[in-house]
Amino acid sequence: MYNNFMASDVIIVGAGIAGLLCAYESVQAGLNVSIVYQDDVEQTSTYYAQGGIAAAWSHQDSALQHMTDTVMAGDGLCDNDVVQDFCEQAPEFVRKLIEIGVPFDKHTDNTYRLTQEGAHSHSRIFHVKDHTGTSIIMTLVSHLKHHPRVNWVNHSIDGLLSCATTGRIIGVRANGTPFLASHTVLATGGFSNIFSRSTNPKKNIGEGMALAFMAGARLGDLEFIQFHPTVLCEPGFPPLLISEALRGEGAFLVNKNNDRFMKKYHDLEDLAPRDVVSRAINQEQEPKLNIAPLMTTIETRFPTIFNALKLRGFSLDSFEIPVQPLVHYTLGGIVAKPNGKTNCDGLYAIGECAVTGFHGANRLASNSLLEAGIMGQRCAEHILSIKAEPVGHQGINELLIQPLDQSILHWLGDVAHHSLGVIRSKDIILNGIRAIETHECYGHPLFQFLLSTLQSAFHRDESRGGHFRSDCNETKDDARHSLIQKGHEVLHVDRFF
Ligand SMILES: Cc1cc2nc3c(=O)[nH]c(=O)nc-3n(C[C@H](O)[C@H](O)[C@H](O)COP(=O)(O)OP(=O)(O)OC[C@H]3O[C@@H](n4cnc5c(N)ncnc54)[C@H](O)[C@@H]3O)c2cc1C
Repeated sequence: MYNNFMASDVIIVGAGIAGLLCAYESVQAGLNVSIVYQDDVEQTSTYYAQGGIAAAWSHQDSALQHMTDTVMAGDGLCDNDVVQDFCEQAPEFVRKLIEIGVPFDKHTDNTYRLTQEGAHSHSRIFHVKDHTGTSIIMTLVSHLKHHPRVNWVNHSIDGLLSCATTGRIIGVRANGTPFLASHTVLATGGFSNIFSRSTNPKKNIGEGMALAFMAGARLGDLEFIQFHPTVLCEPGFPPLLISEALRGEGAFLVNKNNDRFMKKYHDLEDLAPRDVVSRAINQEQEPKLNIAPLMTTIETRFPTIFNALKLRGFSLDSFEIPVQPLVHYTLGGIVAKPNGKTNCDGLYAIGECAVTGFHGANRLASNSLLEAGIMGQRCAEHILSIKAEPVGHQGINELLIQPLDQSILHWLGDVAHHSLGVIRSKDIILNGIRAIETHECYGHPLFQFLLSTLQSAFHRDESRGGHFRSDCNETKDDARHSLIQKGHEVLHVDRFF
């Protein structure tokens, strides 16, 4: 029992696009919200997002074509109803962002300047130069920062709280203080940074998913990991993602012999789906991105990338950037409906920590800000539509997550890196499983979570999207989602719901 606790209508863990949009919609409707987040709003994947948000906007484009592209990239595993829902909602969602002040780039005639990215059949990416995510975060923060109904809690969560009688999730503990609410929303992002190297902020290690798993939530499609094909990795600098939009606007990949090798691998060449480009890069010698076609535009169109390249000593004369694939986006997560509802009473999951079936086995570029933002809005709408459960503060169970030492996190990162690479095999995955099962921290939620991911990869004896197995490189005819729940074996199901 707690003597002191904080209560609000909604607790949102995470201050990326999903969490902040859920907060924005909730406070607009009069709810009191606590936003619990780690570090800084700059330490979110959203803040890092360069490319933009996809929405079929021009007269030549349609939601149907956006759906077709999404399903093609998803490699048989998209839920068509969910894809239709998000793609049809996309233009309305972008309109909402414009209304709240996101300054998407425009042409001089005041029309929006849409760009193209890998596997999109049309130019449909709304962007703010190459710092779209930063603009979205700063716009949302400007609305929420001093809002009287928002309680900002700048601390990592210690765990989830549940009602000892009903099992309902009733809040979180952060820095030793319980925060109770009728609705607990996880918007904790993906788990790319559990790997030893990734494009993600350092805190995106999957603690939210790990806690949800320990609380009995269903996790799905964990084995699908998207590698971003074009990342510059240089000693002494953090990995620098070179946005797909550069290839969309003319840059192309070459190998040691200066051959444009993507012609060999896919009809869409440099704009093929990310898994195809990542595997191709892995097979070529000295792969580089040739940015010569962007010589006159890169400085103004992609200023963040341009300045980061300058900082690393690149000049416009050296128009070839060495690139390699790096873990970038985790497709699986807590199984949730588009409004964030999970199988655990009182617990919602939105954004990259959730899996709805929208992306399938491989995400189409610029579809994740879209999904995360719409889920944030939908979650708030859902919460508003139901009667709030009164939350007592007696008989509370705590499900805690102890911080791991840096050395143990590094060890975990190495296991993930070696077992779940661009190309895996049964033996490599089994080595990872054995390493985790024999470690003294085996019972820790993050260990259990990574074990679930490895088990999901082990049981998917085929290659599809972001899961490529050298020992079974065929794609099966029937595409099925993987599902794992604490205390149960991995299941394969046709649909999540
Ligand atoms: C470099 C980069 C570029 C990208 N470019 C694009 C793009 O152009 N278009 C696109 O659609 N997608 C892009 N993506 C993917 C996209 O940015 C993410 O999928 C999306 O932003 C996820 O949003 P989110 O709100 O779910 O999570 P995030 O934005 O990652 O936010 C997660 C939040 O959870 C908090 N958190 C995590 N764990 C805890 C904890 N234990 N306790 C408290 N708080 C916690 C974090 O501090 C953070 O506030 C990119 C990703 C990266 C890394």
